[in-house]
Amino acid sequence: MLGLGKLTKKVFGTPNDRKIKAARPLVEKVNALEPEFEKLTDDQIKNKTEELATRAMKGESLDDLLPEAFANCREGARRTLGLRAFDTQLMGAIFLHQGNVAEQKTGEGKTLTATFAAYLNALTHKGVHIVTVNEYLVKRDAEWMGKVFASLGLTTGYIVPNMDDETKRAAYACDITYATNNELGFDYLRDNMKSELSQIFQKQHNFAIVDEVDSILIDEARTPLIISGPSDDRSDMYQTIDAVIPLLAPDHYELDEKTRGVTFTDDGIEFLEEQLRIRDLLEEGFTLYDPESTSLVHHVNQGLRAHTLFERDKDYIVRDGEVVLIDEFTGRMMAGRRLGDGLHQAIEAKEGVDIKPENITLASVTFQNYFRLYDKLAGMTGTALTEADEFMEIYGLGVVEVPTNVPVARIDEDDAVYRTAQEKYAAMIEKAKEAHAKGQPCLVGTTSIEKSEMLSKLLDAEGIKHNVLNARQHEQEAQIVGDAGKFGAVTIATNMAGRGTDIQLGGNVELKVQEALAANPDADPAEVRTRIEAETADEKKKVLEAGGLFVLASERHESRRIDNQLRGRSGRQGDPGRSSFFLSLEDDLMRIFGSEKLEKVLTTLGLKEGEAIIHPWVNKSLERAQAKVEGRNFDMRKQLLKFDDVMNEQRKVIFGQRRDIMEAQDLQEITEDMRHQVIDDLIDQYMPANTYADQWDAQGFYAAVIEQLGVDVPIIAWCEEDGVDDEVIRDRLIEATDKLMAEKTELFGEQSMRNIEKHFLLQTIDTKWREHLLTLEHLRSVVGFRGYAQRDPLNEYKNESFQLFEGMLDSLRADVTQQLSRIMPPSEEEQQRMMEAMLAQQQAAQVAVPVDAPDATIGTPAPGFDENDESTWGNPGRNEPCPCGSGDKFKHCHGRLA
Ligand code: ADP
Ligand code: MG
Repeated sequence: MLGLGKLTKKVFGTPNDRKIKAARPLVEKVNALEPEFEKLTDDQIKNKTEELATRAMKGESLDDLLPEAFANCREGARRTLGLRAFDTQLMGAIFLHQGNVAEQKTGEGKTLTATFAAYLNALTHKGVHIVTVNEYLVKRDAEWMGKVFASLGLTTGYIVPNMDDETKRAAYACDITYATNNELGFDYLRDNMKSELSQIFQKQHNFAIVDEVDSILIDEARTPLIISGPSDDRSDMYQTIDAVIPLLAPDHYELDEKTRGVTFTDDGIEFLEEQLRIRDLLEEGFTLYDPESTSLVHHVNQGLRAHTLFERDKDYIVRDGEVVLIDEFTGRMMAGRRLGDGLHQAIEAKEGVDIKPENITLASVTFQNYFRLYDKLAGMTGTALTEADEFMEIYGLGVVEVPTNVPVARIDEDDAVYRTAQEKYAAMIEKAKEAHAKGQPCLVGTTSIEKSEMLSKLLDAEGIKHNVLNARQHEQEAQIVGDAGKFGAVTIATNMAGRGTDIQLGGNVELKVQEALAANPDADPAEVRTRIEAETADEKKKVLEAGGLFVLASERHESRRIDNQLRGRSGRQGDPGRSSFFLSLEDDLMRIFGSEKLEKVLTTLGLKEGEAIIHPWVNKSLERAQAKVEGRNFDMRKQLLKFDDVMNEQRKVIFGQRRDIMEAQDLQEITEDMRHQVIDDLIDQYMPANTYADQWDAQGFYAAVIEQLGVDVPIIAWCEEDGVDDEVIRDRLIEATDKLMAEKTELFGEQSMRNIEKHFLLQTIDTKWREHLLTLEHLRSVVGFRGYAQRDPLNEYKNESFQLFEGMLDSLRADVTQQLSRIMPPSEEEQQRMMEAMLAQQQAAQVAVPVDAPDATIGTPAPGFDENDESTWGNPGRNEPCPCGSGDKFKHCHGRLA
């Protein structure tokens, strides 16, 4: 019976239908333009791009330019690749342009689809990034589609690891840049560790199209990208904590063997605070509950774990002065493996061996947060619908299912369930044999390398020749996948292997040509191609007659999406095909979910040895089980993301500040603000609100001012003056410190002073940020520590990390102010060296900052400048030359505040 939901959908169409319907008129427009664009010469096609770009610059919207841009792109692709984009490809591109995930099945031609959206969005000259999952695909797609872009007059670049900086910078500067998600993320992190604007790779994050978007934004979303490096030597701290741990009494802590967690009791904390104060690890006036103590608490926890949960000669051994872990299951030594987060160091301290520095995070970002940087994001994949909620909730991406160019003719059979894995595999081998015998290519899907090897042995035993695809060598993968559609081919693959290369029935012409030419380099390429094209067409016909590609899967995966990926390998572009999943009651998914009920039903249905139950009911209940796992995994990712979001907000602030500092010509205002803020803080501290002069610690104030501001002023006398208040003192301190800094500037010269400021600022930010990152990591492991009152760890984490962040900013201001107040002019020799370094830097900067620098020629107003029309002034910075051409700074000229 049709449910009411289904019925209404039938009558009114699903939301997806409506989106498709809305896109059709646009596609029609592109089609209507086709005859006109077919007549253009190659040069006219290139010129068209320029015309469109100019119109875009003048404010015409990309939506309005879409039909012409797509028509031009279709023509360019037809001429260079010989492919005329299908209407469905244009449709997919429309959805990409609109910032969606376009679900387009395997073999529908997503690589080409992406070029349309990329071309349109490149017209504004802000760069478009096309993201793929591996290096092989980055190069393949950039080379392949680069031809299309070149015909349109656009440049294409690609990014792979270990490129030299120049090449990479050039690639990023291209109109279209192909790159892997990893490399993009790492470059972003690296960019934010640089100190010169000219060194930055990623100038902007305009538009990214992510291919295989589910792999990248869902499967890989949980692993952050991390740049790490060794920390400072902190042996002393480890040793001191290690000395305290044995002093603890049993009632000082609670130990949870199962979760391997330890917590301290109130008595324990009191005792620890005392001990740590004696040893100068905890400052007077602080407790272990203060956010400032986060790292200390973390290391004390690790110390306790090292002493209570790790047993020598059971969990680890000490060999040649090193702590070597022992594998819990195999009992083997795991040389070189180290526990993280300072735990290994704690054990080293306990055993009295050399303490090696830990590797700490210098910078990190998750893909989720990286890709959210883009002004517009789009994705494509064959399998997105099952994850539509997650795409929307986390990335704000809608999912649109694009119709296939030709209806799918593949037959998806109901699952076959066997009692044991053994019986299942035996039946699978029979199926593979059958297919092989009639020449039908067969793709055997497995969930692990182990299982693929096992199946490979079984096939060997039957004397069936086959390929195994489980390596992570993408080029080789492409070759194996290319062969997988040949007549009689049998290929075993683990689920994720070889995505991005499609299985063509009869084999892949390109690969065959390459192979033939490699074997016989003297042959005429054109002749070889013609011959192979004919051969492949014949072979394809035979494969079609044998039923197309047969996908034979050995298990259902935790997520329906991965199953669909595997199925989708077959039946591309309307080809015939078949998919069949073989399961057993011993499979992981079966064991975890609904197994009991399932087993009962299956027994009732009469499951016998060697026989399978095939029933739609099984599929339904398995899919329900999968949906449950998917939901649980999504929750886990969401939870992690919430933690990461907290750090991300702070990272955005810091990276943004860094960028501003690098871009700024003049940091005087910033350092001045910082200094004044430090003065405010000092006043708050030493002259608290609602207190009287006799309550102030004038002596301490005096010392602090010398220490932090570098000026020796008669604070004590000031404090004793009649009617003095914080405002007066504030003004005097500002005056004194401004004077000090003015003198220093005089001494160093304006330019070097500004360089010094920049240098100190960037360096201090970086150091503080790294320390802060480490503290945040520690905070995550100790948020539970203060959670006695059943408080929510995430909220705790948010509050504390916010306090820590504020604290970091305070100490950043204090440090920069202090350092600047203490600088002394260098000796002559040092001066010489500095001058040389500066000159070199300036020259480099001149090379790297071309045309866009504001026109500073004295006497010539900027083009279009009209004194009486502010809109013609073009938004100059306050310290930039005034656009009127006076040669004065803007803030002293037309930008003077009334
Ligand atoms: P997907 O990424 O969607 O799985 P690909 O971009 O790898 O698909 O393309 C699959 C195959 O389809 C390629 O061999 C490509 O040459 C071919 N193809 C793509 N677009 C067209 C088209 N418009 N006409 C004919 N063949 C096409
Ligand atoms: Mg693809």
